[in-house]
Amino acid sequence: MKKYFDIIVIGAGHAGIEASVCTAKMGFKVGLFTMDLNAIGRMSCNPAIGGTAKGHLVREIDALGGIMGQIADKTGIQFKMLNTSKGPAVWSPRCQSDKNMYSIEAANMIKDLKEIDIVQGVVNELIIEEAEKSNQKYKFSIKGVKTENNSFYFCESVIITSGTFLNAVMHTGKSRLEGGRIGEKSATGLSECMRTLGFETGRLKTGTPPRLDKNTIDFGKTETQNGDEIPKPFSHKIYNNFPYQKQVDCYLTHTNEQTHAILRTGFEDSPMFTGRIKGIGPRYCPSIEDKISRFSDKPRHQIFLEPETLDGDSIYMNGFSTSLPFDVQQKAANTIVGLEKVKLIKQGYAVEYDFFPTHQIYLTLESKLVSGLFTAGQINGTSGYEEAAAQGLIAGINAGLKLKNEEPFILKRSESYIGVLIDDLINKCPEEPYRMFTSCAEYRLVLRQDNADIRLMKYGYKFGLIEKDLIEKLDVKINLINEGIKYFETNTISPKIVNDYLQSKNSSELSQNEFLSNLIKRNEIKLSDLIEMDAFKENELLNIIKKDPETVNQIEIEIKYKGYIERQNEHIRNFENNENIKIPSDFKFEKIKSLSAEALEKLKAVKPASIGQAMRIAGVRPSDISAIMIYMRG
Ligand SMILES: Cc1cc2nc3c(=O)[nH]c(=O)nc-3n(C[C@H](O)[C@H](O)[C@H](O)COP(=O)(O)OP(=O)(O)OC[C@H]3O[C@@H](n4cnc5c(N)ncnc54)[C@H](O)[C@@H]3O)c2cc1C
Repeated sequence: MKKYFDIIVIGAGHAGIEASVCTAKMGFKVGLFTMDLNAIGRMSCNPAIGGTAKGHLVREIDALGGIMGQIADKTGIQFKMLNTSKGPAVWSPRCQSDKNMYSIEAANMIKDLKEIDIVQGVVNELIIEEAEKSNQKYKFSIKGVKTENNSFYFCESVIITSGTFLNAVMHTGKSRLEGGRIGEKSATGLSECMRTLGFETGRLKTGTPPRLDKNTIDFGKTETQNGDEIPKPFSHKIYNNFPYQKQVDCYLTHTNEQTHAILRTGFEDSPMFTGRIKGIGPRYCPSIEDKISRFSDKPRHQIFLEPETLDGDSIYMNGFSTSLPFDVQQKAANTIVGLEKVKLIKQGYAVEYDFFPTHQIYLTLESKLVSGLFTAGQINGTSGYEEAAAQGLIAGINAGLKLKNEEPFILKRSESYIGVLIDDLINKCPEEPYRMFTSCAEYRLVLRQDNADIRLMKYGYKFGLIEKDLIEKLDVKINLINEGIKYFETNTISPKIVNDYLQSKNSSELSQNEFLSNLIKRNEIKLSDLIEMDAFKENELLNIIKKDPETVNQIEIEIKYKGYIERQNEHIRNFENNENIKIPSDFKFEKIKSLSAEALEKLKAVKPASIGQAMRIAGVRPSDISAIMIYMRG
């Protein structure tokens, strides 16, 4: 059998969904390959979207025209804005999702797009040919894929988003089973085919906790964790009109010394401690056995009990990821308050899989070896649904732009978390699973989740992923924000009018007229309260602004943090100066004799597009940068 697509996406997980949907919206005929039709958008681990820094990624994906935020909004059963006791830079939206609904909704959104054909099958070979002589940048170019049942599919571009499935092995105690996720087989052939072409692969591992039977938990002994009273969606499309699902509670309990003692009895059969698992796991998301051996002085660890669905019985045991033997998992769980009678529905396990170190791809996520071949998601050494979705979207956009012969799309780290994620992947080439944190972003005061639309929606619109009415609404909002800021910075208020209000907020009273912006800068003053004062009742501009809480929020943040934001913008200008000093793609670093051996090796592998990028490559020193600049000046 032979078939033709413009673009083939291998894998219908979180990266594959975004890659296929955005290329379809760009007008291409897409073949979306999945090993299992029922596993589209399956949540392998935690049934939750967003969280610290990950929530920023989801808002950015949404602003660019991706669909993760929309799926999460339709299927979220507990929404919570995290870190609200800190500054707005680190506020991060998160939701607990009904994992079954999530998968169904993702599949429905894909099926709505007539440009996407979903193909059930395991891709085990890439079809490639030597690159044309005129295309010296690459050795090969992609022509299509072959599946396990010997069907051939031809295309212009392939995006691999195979997640944890390549040569995957699952471990629980001494048991070792081939498979990428419980109940699903492993994908073989593809890694081997790519290694033959010259690709380098590595091994990583991740793990998941047991799932618990809700009916066997005594929730009365645990601490209830509520969501937000008024849930806020991820998607900009429905920000002020959010028809959310019924909301549920989560619960908190803790391990104790007895739990730890029982877990230790399983160490001699642990695939991690006995060396059966070779892949490196995520340090920031350790298994419970890792936690009790690395932090042996800690008498207890938090365990969050999170419903996996709205009406079902399965509870996710967040904080208890483990690959210890099943009987040890069960016994240890029974020592935890509230879980004395708990029954494990599914065991925890670890999975080891192949990944492709990221020195082999460009910032567009295209392979340096094979023209038209892109990789995105867990295959690039990241961990997490959001990190995967962000890459799927960028790989998709760039695959589409390449087919249209248009300039590639590279987001800067000064304008988005997605830019930070990809820049880190390419320049630092992490050796352990990469997860997004707010601390990864040096310009986080301007990269807030609340202004993702202002930063990025213009790009989504340019690529045909954002509708005209949304961008028009955004233009109105931006104008209102600017007018509002100008109004508050140029208008004063008298003590007579404002002092009663200030007194009610425990804020020092005025003795003379004061600019409104100076009042808004005070911690205790909220703009939303201030504009409700009688004095502003007839104010036409403020009456319009009031109608949109998001506009009010933006004005308030821009005024309150003005000094910090201006300083950060100055740093960004310096950063961008270095980004604008371009290094030609055929630049011969080996001609610069004074480069250190390590720098030369890294520069040749990464092929930085600018001096700014070269500066961020691990192993490249300031003296190497000076040498490159002197050489480039001739
Ligand atoms: C056991 C386990 C525990 C995890 N724990 C965590 C965690 O604690 N924290 C965290 O952030 N993330 C965790 N993850 C990772 C999270 O699931 C991934 O980061 C995320 O799903 C990656 O998205 P993806 O799109 O790259 O791949 P996936 O969501 O894995 O999707 C890959 C898709 O590709 C398909 N596929 C693969 N190979 C082929 C092929 N050759 N042909 C056709 N189809 C193919 C598969 O069928 C699947 O649909 C865990 C994953 C697993 C399996």
